[in-house]
Amino acid sequence: MRLRLDGVRELALVGAHCDDIAIGCGATVLRLAAANPGLVVRALVLSGGGTAREQEEHDALATMLPDADVRLSVLDLPDGRLPDHRDRVKDALQRLAAIGSTDLVLSPQRHDAHQDHRLLGELVPTAFRSALHLGYEILKWESDLPVTTVLVPADEDVVATKVAVIEKSYPSQSAHDWFDEEAFRALMRVRGAQCHERYAEGFVTDKTVLTLS
Ligand SMILES: [Zn+2]
Repeated sequence: MRLRLDGVRELALVGAHCDDIAIGCGATVLRLAAANPGLVVRALVLSGGGTAREQEEHDALATMLPDADVRLSVLDLPDGRLPDHRDRVKDALQRLAAIGSTDLVLSPQRHDAHQDHRLLGELVPTAFRSALHLGYEILKWESDLPVTTVLVPADEDVVATKVAVIEKSYPSQSAHDWFDEEAFRALMRVRGAQCHERYAEGFVTDKTVLTLS
């Protein structure tokens, strides 16, 4: 049985680094924007502010969400050191959660091996108390892919757009040996196989409330 996620009007996106959002949930963001005209997107990235990476993130979100009302904040906390700045991270998340009425928040999942991602996975649910929280996965060198419990199918057009946005918008990351179309498609193909689809993105959720009406 499939569950529908209708009526998402306000979406919050949280990433530790510029490119986390596109890699972890780009296809889902594309689908949400297509299904919800007038979508309000509030995006927060904790590091990269004031560097070339900030402009990369603006470009990526502008390409993915041309018709949405997008408000992006990129802070300048040090990459790899977010746990040393836990109070600032928590404050930034609290401020983001206090704006508007977020229906859905997407962030890294809490068991990610990268300390910056993991901190966000822990803190985001403590800031957003009434939104559905889905934790996305990020392919990387560490063997840390989670057992994903929520799967969002994506068709070929959406997958192609996601991969093109990542490859074109983040030239600063192209040196990573996992940063290529084959790797991004491979993970989405695996998640697709797990839900009888060609492609999908996988998420982890700690808690889901169902309304039976
Ligand atoms: Zn990251």
